[in-house]
Amino acid sequence: MAGKAAAKIITEGKNYRRYKDGDATPGTWGEVIFQAGWSHKCPTYILRTPPCSASCPSGHDIRGWLDIIRGIEKPAAGVVWQEYAFRRMAESNPFPAIMGRVCPAPCEQGCNRNAVEEHVGINSVEHFIGDWAIENNVAFAKPESETGRRIAVIGGGPAGLAAAYFLRRRGHAVTLFEANAQLGGFMRYGIPEYRAPRAKLDAEIQRILDLGVTVKTNCRIGRDVSFAEIDRDFDAAFWGVGTHSGRGLPVPGWKGTPNCVAGISFLKAFNEGRLQAVTGRIIVVGGGDTSIDVASVARRLGHIESVSSQDRVEHIILGDTAHDVAGTVQRQGCHAVLTSLFPVNQMFAAKREIDDATREGVEIMGGVMPLEVLKGPDGRATGLKMCHCKMDGQNPVPVGGSEFVLEADLIVSAIGQTGDIEDLPELDNGRGFINADRSMRIPGKTKHFVGGDVVRPHLLTTAVGHGRIAAASIDDFLGGHDVGKRPKVDVHQFNLLNKLREANLEPEPYPGAGVRGTAEAKFAIHNFDDRASAEVIPQDGLFLGHFTENPRRHRGEHHIDAEVVIGNFEERLIPLTEADVVNEAKRCMSCGLCFECDNCVVFCPQTAVQRVAKKERTVGRYVYTEYSKCVGCHICYDVCPTGYIQMGMGE
Ligand SMILES: Cc1cc2nc3c(=O)[nH]c(=O)nc-3n(C[C@H](O)[C@H](O)[C@H](O)COP(=O)(O)OP(=O)(O)OC[C@H]3O[C@@H](n4cnc5c(N)ncnc54)[C@H](O)[C@@H]3O)c2cc1C
Ligand code: SF4
Ligand code: SF4
Repeated sequence: MAGKAAAKIITEGKNYRRYKDGDATPGTWGEVIFQAGWSHKCPTYILRTPPCSASCPSGHDIRGWLDIIRGIEKPAAGVVWQEYAFRRMAESNPFPAIMGRVCPAPCEQGCNRNAVEEHVGINSVEHFIGDWAIENNVAFAKPESETGRRIAVIGGGPAGLAAAYFLRRRGHAVTLFEANAQLGGFMRYGIPEYRAPRAKLDAEIQRILDLGVTVKTNCRIGRDVSFAEIDRDFDAAFWGVGTHSGRGLPVPGWKGTPNCVAGISFLKAFNEGRLQAVTGRIIVVGGGDTSIDVASVARRLGHIESVSSQDRVEHIILGDTAHDVAGTVQRQGCHAVLTSLFPVNQMFAAKREIDDATREGVEIMGGVMPLEVLKGPDGRATGLKMCHCKMDGQNPVPVGGSEFVLEADLIVSAIGQTGDIEDLPELDNGRGFINADRSMRIPGKTKHFVGGDVVRPHLLTTAVGHGRIAAASIDDFLGGHDVGKRPKVDVHQFNLLNKLREANLEPEPYPGAGVRGTAEAKFAIHNFDDRASAEVIPQDGLFLGHFTENPRRHRGEHHIDAEVVIGNFEERLIPLTEADVVNEAKRCMSCGLCFECDNCVVFCPQTAVQRVAKKERTVGRYVYTEYSKCVGCHICYDVCPTGYIQMGMGE
C-alpha cells in the first residue's frame, strides 16, 4: 500500500483522490489487508488545530463553536446551543457582535473548505451568535474568588478591554484607565457606527465591566497619572494605548497647513458628533480601512457651503468645537476622492469596503502618489499635485511626465499612525511603538505588558489576541510561574479532558507505577493524543472526497447608492437567519477532530473500530479501536474525512 508520502489529495478535476495511479503497487489486497503482518501500525486519535483557528489572531476555537451549532458537540446540561456557542467564542474573544461585522476574517482565507468550493462563512456565524447573546442578555460568570492582586490596564480599546476581561476572569482586581470620555478605542472613535453599531458595542463593553472592572475615563496616563505611579501602585500593568498620532503626508507643503489633517482626527470629530458636514472637495490619501471610512463618512455627511470660517472642517477637527446643526441643513453631494499608491485591486482595505465605497460615490484612484500640497495666498491648501506610480515592493516609483493636480478644500492623510506616547518615554522604543516579547511582556520591564496596535498596527482581533496572551502572562508572573513559554499554535484549544469532566466522564486517578497500557485502564484517555498546541491540520491531511459541494450562505447587504448616500447611516450588513447559520456550520469539515460520520466504523473490514458506548460518549470520544482485531490496513485512516485518525499505534 502506498506510504504516507504518497497520500496526496489530487484536487485537479475535483475528484479528491488520495493516491495517483501508479503511486502504489499493493500486490494482492488479501495479503495487505488480512495478513499484513508487516503493517504493525494501528489507528490513534489525534487532535490538531484547524487552520481557521490558526489564522484567527484572537485564536477562536472556530471548529468548536461550529460543532456546537451543528449539534455535534452537546451543550452542558441546561444550556441552549446558542449560549454554549457564545461562551465558547468568549473563551478567546468577548466581542463576537463587533468582530462578526468588521473583522476582515483572515480565518476564512485559512479555511480548508476553500479546497472544496468556498470557505465556511465563519464571520457571519460569529455575527449571529454575538447578536443572540446581546438580545438574550447573556452575562459572564463572575470570578469564583479574588486573588487580591491589582492590575492597571491603560487604554480602553479592544486590547485593553480584552486584557481587563481575561484578568477579571482570573479574579484579579482591574483598574482601567482611558484618556477619552468613553471606552472602545477605535471601535468607537475610528470605525463609524454604520459598521460597528454603538448599541452592540456598548452591550459587549458593559458585559465586561459587569465582571467588576474599575473604570477611570478622561484620565491620560503620562499626563494625569505618571508611569512611576502606575509602577508603584499596581502589581502589574497592561499597556494597550493604540496608535493615535496620525502620519502626515511626506510631501512639501503638508506641515502646518490648516486644512491638511489626519484621517483618525477626522473620524474622531465625526464619531464625537462634532463634525456634521464637509465643506468643498475632499481628497483622502491612503488605501486601507481608515481612508475608506473617511471617504465614505464624507459622502454620507455631504457638502455645505461654508457660511463662516468657523464652519470650516479643520476648525471642527482640530479644535473642540462642533458644527452648528441648523447651519448644516442644506447639504449637497460631496466630491470625495480616495488615492492609493497601490492599484485598486491591491489596496489594503477589504474588497467589500472598496466595493461599497465605490457604489456610494467615492472616486477611487489606484497607482497614484502625492507630490506636493498646493496652497493659496491665505496659506490654505487648494489642491494636491500627484503623479502616477508603479510599486517596487513597498516603494512608489513615479511615472515620468504623468503629473496632474486634484483640487481640494480638505486633504486627509490616512497613511498610518504611530503611538501618541510622547508622555511615556519609559516605554517608547524610539519609533513611537512599544516593544513586546512573545508573552507580550515589555523587554526589561518585569511587571509591564503590552498589546494591540502600539506593538504592531493590525486588526481588532489581533489586539484582542494580544490582550488574551498578556493576561495569561500576567497571571503566570503574579503566580511566580515561568513567563514566556507560549505554545507553538497559540490559540484557544478544545480540551477533551474538560469536556469529559463536564459530562462526568473524567478518567480515574492514576493508580501508580506498575500499570502497563491504557486499553483496559480508566485513568487515561485511551490512544488519544492532543497535538493541537503544536500542529495545524492542512488540506491534504483530510479526505476531501467525503464532502459534496454545498454553496455558502451569504449575508444580505443594504446597498446604498451614490444618489441616496447623504445622511444615510443605516447599518449595511443583514445577519443570517438561524437556519442559515446552522446550515453554514454544517459546511464545516471539522478539520482535526472527529465529527461522528461513522466512516471508520462502516469501512473497517475487521469490525475493529467501534462506537464508544452512548453513555460514555463526548465529542472527540466517539469511536475506539479494539487492537486485538486491528490488522493495520489503515482503511479507517483513509476514509476519515477530518484527519482525526493517524496510523501511529505500534510505532
Ligand atoms: C478608521 C479605522 C478603521 C478600522 N477598521 C477596522 C476594521 O474594519 N476591522 C478591524 O479589524 N480593524 C480595523 N481597524 C483597526 C483596529 O481598530 C485597531 O487595530 C484596534 O482598534 C487596535 O486596538 P488597540 O486596543 O490596540 O488600540 P485602540 O483601539 O486605539 O485603543 C487604544 C485606547 O487607548 C487610549 N489611550 C491612549 N493613550 C492613553 C493613555 N496615555 N492613557 C489612557 N488611555 C490612553 C485611547 O484613547 C484608546 O481608547 C480600524 C482602525 C481605524 C483607525
Ligand atoms: S475574529 Fe476574525 S479571524 Fe477570528 S474567527 Fe472572527 S472573523 Fe475569523
Ligand atoms: S472546514 Fe471548519 S474546521 Fe476546517 S478550516 Fe474551515 S471552518 Fe475550520
